[in-house]
This record gives sequence, structure tokens and C-alpha cells, in this order.
Amino acid sequence: MDTDLGPRGARTVCQTCEVELDRIAEAAMLTEQDLELLRQPRRRINANLPVRMDDGSVEVFPSFRVQYNDARGPMKGGIRFHPGVDETEVDELAFLMTLKCAVVDIPFGGAKGGVEVDPNDLSTGELERLSRTYISEFHDAVGPQTDIPAPDVNTDSQVMAWMRDEYEQIAGEQTPGVITGKPPGLGGSEGRATATSLGGAEVLDAFLETADVGGRGLEVAIQGFGNVGSHLARFLDERGYDVVAVSTVDGGVYDASGLVVPELFDAYAETGDLFATGGSEISNEELLTLDVDVLVPAAIEDQITEENVAEIRADAVLEMANGPTTPTADECLSKRGVPVIPDILANAGGVTVSYFEWVQNTTNQYWTADRVREQLRAQMQTAFEAVAQVKADGDATRTWREAAYTRAVEAVLRAETYRSNVPAR
Ligand code: NAD
Repeated sequence: MDTDLGPRGARTVCQTCEVELDRIAEAAMLTEQDLELLRQPRRRINANLPVRMDDGSVEVFPSFRVQYNDARGPMKGGIRFHPGVDETEVDELAFLMTLKCAVVDIPFGGAKGGVEVDPNDLSTGELERLSRTYISEFHDAVGPQTDIPAPDVNTDSQVMAWMRDEYEQIAGEQTPGVITGKPPGLGGSEGRATATSLGGAEVLDAFLETADVGGRGLEVAIQGFGNVGSHLARFLDERGYDVVAVSTVDGGVYDASGLVVPELFDAYAETGDLFATGGSEISNEELLTLDVDVLVPAAIEDQITEENVAEIRADAVLEMANGPTTPTADECLSKRGVPVIPDILANAGGVTVSYFEWVQNTTNQYWTADRVREQLRAQMQTAFEAVAQVKADGDATRTWREAAYTRAVEAVLRAETYRSNVPAR
């Protein structure tokens, strides 16, 4: 295991973190010392995981855990299995997790993990052995009071169950709070599967009230009809929005008068057919440029870019995916007065219910689905109001992203100050 101890080790600054921090540095009055502390993770751990394959051979998978910041509490962040994962990506995601936990005020820091692998190439047995090896390798670094992993791209509740079991076999005791996103019945929380989408719906409702455009009957286009996009479509439809388009990686479906979302949701879950309930074909590029009230990128990163930003016609953007808008595109939208509700706020419902799961695990008391929903709503509304206040306190050009980052960074630095890691402000 190769451990890089941040400031005393190699000084590799996270580039995206630096760009985003520089954007708010002046308005948030960040000092050089603040930036020095925030620009780089506390600890990066890399390991090469040997896994026995079904044919008897051994393959070695590069893997990462980045522990970005733990000033506000144990670090929290998913583990991604993807062939394109690298240290830079994991750095950026760990940075975002730090800010996401701070913006919704849950007492966690930020981390992220990854394994460079295409899980589609693995049998179930190979996937289980890889998941267990990740935990046996990183066992000393994770724990319910230090660093709590969770699912991310291509890792699900079954993977979390194997990982919990592996951790407990080594620890020799039940430790359900070591990981979240577990299946209900093995310490998982009610409501985790739909939490990100419900949180996004709450934030959108709250934003539209602030924007004074009313929250009902508005046209919404959603890129991505996976876990986040499909449940968000359902929640928004239930709240009276007109979801006019949704898409997958293969393209989308469009109906100007509004899709029949509940039927579409069921049909797609059963058959994978986006057109079972009507509508016409639309490409992902066309969906992004629809003239709608709210555009929701809920698929992958870097979808609104300098190439297509001039064609974006939505009145507002709700970032449900992580990092769907590039910094240059973000600046263009800001200049045009198009509000972008940033990922660290819009999609924080998932990590919020992960926190609820950890609370349930550590108290050994389990909540009803209604209680989870109510607490999630309250947490997201409070976070939104706090960000709105920071936005209102700034000058007229302060964006929602800058307001959310400012709130989050101030919260992290407050904790760092109490710990005497930065001088009092
Ligand atoms: P998912 O894999 O369930 O769904 C992704 C969807 O995007 C699928 O419909 C897929 O077909 C589509 N897609 C993939 N590549 C695409 C492309 N190139 N163009 C257009 N569509 C494409 O993933 P998810 O869990 O719904 O997550 C979606 C996004 O939300 C990701 O950015 C993820 O990091 C972020 N997010 C998810 C959660 C969560 O709780 N699941 C929490 C926070 C953030």
C-alpha cells in the first residue's frame, strides 16, 4: 500500500478543486493558508488489488482511496468501479463530497474510492472477490468513525453487503456503520434508493418559490433515466411538473404535451423500452437544447460544455449528475443570467440519507420510510434556505454555485479553525 500524506508527501494539487476555490476566493475572503489546506487531499492511498479469476489466473486492479478532509467528521464517499477511474477523478470527487456534506450540514468530511475495472467483464464471483479485496486492503483506512464508503458508479447494495461482511470478518465484530447503501435487512435505510431524486425535487421546489415562477406546470427535460433521473421524473410528475423529455445513453423520448411518467417508469423498468407509452425520438444533444423551463442533467459529467452552451435554451439548470457543467459553460450561463443549481446542493439527498443510515446503524434503531422522507425534506429545505441566504448576502453577480461553495468552504474552515489547523479568521 502506497500512502501519500498530503502536505508532507508529494504536493499534487487537485486542479478542479483549485479552479473552483479560486472562483470564490475573493468573495469568501479565503487566505493563502486556507487555500493551501483545501486545494489538496489530506491523504491518498493507492493499492494494486490481486484478484483470483474464475479460470485460476490472477489479475491485478489499480485502486484508490482519497481522504480529502475530516475536519467536520468521519469522511464519507462512494467507491466507483470503472475502467476510466484514476487518481485525479477520485481527488475531484472526494473534494466534492467534502463540500456536499458541508453544504447540507451533515457531520461528515469527504472521501472517495475507485477501482480501475470494467465490472461487466467480471463474473459474480470475481466481483465479490474484488469487492472483498478492496476492503481487506483498505481495512486500516476505513471505519465507522474514520472513513465510511458507499455505492457509486457500478457498485450497488450487494457490493456494500460483501464489503461490510469482509470488514466485520477482519474486525471480529458487527460494524454496520462502516459502510452505507447496504440492502434494507442488512443495515440499509428505508428510502436510500430514491433519496437523491427526492432531495433534488425538494431543492427544485424551493428554488422555484424563491425565483417566484411557481412550482407547478413547468416543463422539465431530464437527461439520464437511471436511478436518479427516473425517480426524479416520478417525483416531479407527482408534483405537477410536465416532464417533456427523458433519455438514456442510447437517446431519448420527447412529448411536448408531457410524458405519461408513471406508465413510462413501469414500462421502462420492465422492458427497457423508452417508447412503450408514446412520444417521439430525440437525441441527447437535442434534449439538452430544448426550450424548457428546467433542464436536468442527471446522467454523467461534462454534458453542458463550451460547444453546446450557446444553444442551451432552458431558463434554469438543476445539476443532478456530478459535474455535468464545465467551468467555462457555467460562466457563460451565469453571464446570460441562467441560474444553475449546483450538484453539491441538488444531488446531496443521497449522502444525507446515507448519514441517516449511519445514525440508524450506530444507534441500532431503525426508522420508517416516512420518517426518512420527512427528515430528508427538512434537511434539504434548510440547506437550500441557507445557500439562498449566502447568495442574497453577496453582490448581484453571485451565482448559486458560488453561494453553495461559499457556505460549504466556510463550514469546513470553521471546523479547521477550531482544530487550530488554520488561524482564527
Ligand atoms: P445510473 O447508472 O443509474 O443512470 C445513468 C443514466 O444516464 C442512464 O439512463 C444512462 O443510460 C444515462 N447515460 C449514461 N451515459 C450517458 C451519456 N453519455 N449520455 C446520456 N445519457 C447517459 O446512474 P445514477 O445513479 O442515476 O447517477 C446519475 C448521475 O447522478 C451520476 O453523475 C452520479 O454520479 C450522480 N449521483 C448519483 C447519486 C445516487 O444516489 N445514485 C447521488 C449523487 C449523484
